[in-house]
Amino acid sequence: MSRNFAVNRRNFVKAAVAAGAFLASAGAVPASAMPTPKPEKWGNEADVIIVGGGAAGLAAACEAVDKDLSVILLEKQPILGGSTIICGGQMSFAGTPDQKEKGINDSVELFTKDLLEVGGHVNDPALIKAYMDIQLETYDWLKKMGIQISNPRPNSGMSVPRGHFVSPPQFITVTQKYAADKGAKILLNCAAQRLVYDDVAKKIVGLTAKSRSRETTFGAKKAVILAAGGYCRNPDLLGQYTPLIRKAKVIAGLGTQGDGIKMALAYGADFIDTPYVKATYGVTMNPSIFNEDYMQYYYSGAVILNKAGKRIVNESISYKLLGDAALAQKDGCGFQVFDSVIREAEYERRRKTPEAVAKFENRPGILYQADTIKEAAKQAGIDAEAAEETVKRYNGYVKSGSDPEFGRKHLSGNFGELRAIEKPPFYVMPSTAAIIGTYSGVRITPKAEVIDIFGDIIPGILAAGEMTGGFHGAAYMTGTAFGKATMFGRIAARTAAGM
Ligand SMILES: Cc1cc2nc3c(=O)[nH]c(=O)nc-3n(C[C@H](O)[C@H](O)[C@H](O)COP(=O)(O)OP(=O)(O)OC[C@H]3O[C@@H](n4cnc5c(N)ncnc54)[C@H](O)[C@@H]3O)c2cc1C
Repeated sequence: MSRNFAVNRRNFVKAAVAAGAFLASAGAVPASAMPTPKPEKWGNEADVIIVGGGAAGLAAACEAVDKDLSVILLEKQPILGGSTIICGGQMSFAGTPDQKEKGINDSVELFTKDLLEVGGHVNDPALIKAYMDIQLETYDWLKKMGIQISNPRPNSGMSVPRGHFVSPPQFITVTQKYAADKGAKILLNCAAQRLVYDDVAKKIVGLTAKSRSRETTFGAKKAVILAAGGYCRNPDLLGQYTPLIRKAKVIAGLGTQGDGIKMALAYGADFIDTPYVKATYGVTMNPSIFNEDYMQYYYSGAVILNKAGKRIVNESISYKLLGDAALAQKDGCGFQVFDSVIREAEYERRRKTPEAVAKFENRPGILYQADTIKEAAKQAGIDAEAAEETVKRYNGYVKSGSDPEFGRKHLSGNFGELRAIEKPPFYVMPSTAAIIGTYSGVRITPKAEVIDIFGDIIPGILAAGEMTGGFHGAAYMTGTAFGKATMFGRIAARTAAGM
C-alpha cells in the first residue's frame, strides 16, 4: 500500500510541480504551498541546512560538525536562543550521578512509566525510547562541553526528582561556539521560507530563505533539519486547534510562529497532538518576565480557588491541566492560597530566598497577605467566607488523608506529602495560565524523519524539538521539552550523517 501510495504521491508532486510551472508561465501566481522547484544554482550549499537556533537546532549543529558534516544554521531572529534561552532550564534525566549522590533511585523504566502516565498513554513509546537511549549520553556530552548541570529537583509529573537545571544562556553560548569553532556557519536574521523539492531526486533538497529583504536559496546535500520551534506566537494556528488557549497569556521566543511546521505541512506532514496544546498555570495576571512572574506555590501545597472561594481542581495534576481549570473560569483566574510554611517550602524547592522574590511579589496586585485567610481573600477580591470555609475543609482532608472532593493525594504528581494551610501569615496570589510551548507538531520517527499524513517518510527532511509531536502526548512532564529538543536535535544530525 505504501508503495502504491509512493507512486501516487510522486505523480501528485510531479503534477503539482508541473501545475506550478504552468501557472507561472501563464503569468498567474502559484499557490505558495505548492512544491517549490529546485533552482538552477544554489545561493549557498552545505551537507545539512538547519532551520532554527534554539536547543534543537544548536544540538543538531554540534552533533553534525562532530560527524564531519558541513552545516549552515539559519535563525530568523537577530539573536539565537528562541524559547530555549528564556526557559526555566529544567532538563529531565534518569540515573545521573547527581541523583545517585542524593540517594534518588531513578531509572529509564520509571522515567518511561511516568512519561506514559503523564501523557495519558497517547504518546509514542518509540519516541520515548529514542529519548531514553540517548539521555545519559547527552548528560555526559553537555558536561564535556563545559555546561554545568545542577542537582535534580522534583517537578510536575515526576515520581522522583529528575529535573536537572541546565542554564539556558550557557547552553546557547556554549553550543553556538562549539559548532561555529568546528566550521558551522550561523546566519542570523535569515528566515527560511519554503522547502525546495527536486523532481528528479524525488526529495526535499533545500529551501528558500529571506535574509533581511534579500531572497536566497540553500541547498542541502544530505538533509534539511527543521528545528524552528513551536507556534505560541501564531494566534491563527493556535486558535484553529485549541480555541480555549486564546484566553491564555503568551511567554515564548519571538520567532515561535510555526514556520517550520507550515513548511513541512506544505509537503503533507502529519500534524499531531494539537488537542493537547495547553497553557501552563501559575503566572501572574499580567506576566512580563517569565522567571519572576511564574510562581508555583501549588507544588509545595497551595490550593487553587476561584472567585467564589471554592477549589476548582486537584492541585497535584499537571500544571497544563491546572491551566485548563484556570482558563475555564470566567476571569481566567485561579487564586493560589497558602501559608507561611508553604511559602518557605516553595522558596526552598526553587532555591530562592524571600529577599530575591520580594522585589517582584511586593508589586501591587501580585500577592495579598494577612493574618487570616478571610482577610487575605477579601483583599484579593475572593468570597472571603467561602475561602475560609474551603481552606478549613481542605485542612481536614489533609489530616484525614482523604480528599473526597478532588482526590488530591500529593503535592505534585506522585510526589510529596500534603501540607495543611494553617500557619499565618496567609497569602493569596491571583494566577492564570500562559502558553510557553505548543508540544504538538509534525509526526516523526525515532530517527527524526518526518512522516506524512499517509504514514510515509518525506524524503530529505528531518525535524526536532518543539515543532514535533508524539513525544509528550496528552500532557507534558517538566524538563522533557528542553530535553526533547536537545536529544532529538542530536538524533536528527546522526540520521543526516547516515543519509
Ligand atoms: C518561559 C519558558 C519556560 C520553559 N521552561 C522549560 C523548562 O524548564 N524545561 C523544559 O523542558 N521546557 C521548558 N520550556 C519549553 C522549552 O524551552 C522549549 O520547548 C524548547 O526549548 C524548544 O526548543 P526548540 O529548539 O525546539 O525551539 P526554540 O528554542 O524556540 O528555537 C526555535 C528557533 O527557530 C527560530 N525560527 C523560527 N522560524 C524560523 C525560520 N523560518 N527561519 C529561521 N529560524 C526560525 C526561532 O526564532 C527560534 O530561535 C519553557 C518554555 C518557555 C517559553
